[in-house]
Amino acid sequence: MTALRHALVTGGGSGIGRAVALALAESGIAVTVCGRKAAPLEAVAAGNPNIHAHVADITDETSVAALYEAAESARGPFDIVVANAGIASSAPAYRTTLEDWNRILNVNLTGAFLTVRPALKGMAERGRGRIVFIASVAGLRGSAYVAPYVASKHGVVGLMRALSAELLKTGVTVNAICPGYVQTEMLEESVRRVMEKTGRGEEEARRGFAEINPNHRLIQPEEVAAAAMWLVGDAAISVTGQAIAISGGS
Ligand code: NAD
Repeated sequence: MTALRHALVTGGGSGIGRAVALALAESGIAVTVCGRKAAPLEAVAAGNPNIHAHVADITDETSVAALYEAAESARGPFDIVVANAGIASSAPAYRTTLEDWNRILNVNLTGAFLTVRPALKGMAERGRGRIVFIASVAGLRGSAYVAPYVASKHGVVGLMRALSAELLKTGVTVNAICPGYVQTEMLEESVRRVMEKTGRGEEEARRGFAEINPNHRLIQPEEVAAAAMWLVGDAAISVTGQAIAISGGS
């Protein structure tokens, strides 16, 4: 890992992104975390000199360009990009509006593309780099009532495979981590939606999500961060084009 010095983690103010940013920083890598709101990013960066907060919206090309310009001129080119930011919603497909479809695809898929695109040429030229997408088990199989999310995450896995093929001979690896239900703010939002729609209590609603994971336990963000750390480490130089499930079983 000695050669890798600067990482970008999108959505680094909370959940999985936060855990990945803290793990990278702990290993001595400078980390730029981005997200739409300053406060959570600054909270992650507070007291951690290796973490730098930058407000940016991954769906906005200009905002991403400004992020790269500011972060790379301050701390050097990104050798690691963790495209983590994402959103979810749920509804039966027949009731999914075009607006909701576009919103999810725009953040989860187009945003992931916009996040990594500026890094590709430089990484290939320097002959090193690690791209890690945080996809989902929803990128590997179908699931009811989350059609745009499933489509977006299948798209992310496809994007990862395309980039991995394109960068095979460059020393740059491209992989996706596909978690099952992880204990984060996104899950808590889903818990609130279930409570509203079904009248279930909080614990019961949360347990319902844990039970969808085959081993019946919620995954912790640090477990996803540990997989990301392996993928960016020297030992994973020959791992590319892989969608790695962290899901408590298949
Ligand atoms: P989270 O809500 O804590 O994190 C999502 C982050 O993305 C937030 O910090 C949010 O501010 C950021 N974000 C959203 N839209 C953005 C935009 N346009 N520009 C910049 N940042 C934006 O939830 P999380 O669970 O940590 O989610 C992280 C990733 O993990 C997502 O891609 C999600 O789809 C994926 N994931 C989550 C779970 C789960 O159960 N929590 C399971 C599988 C995959």
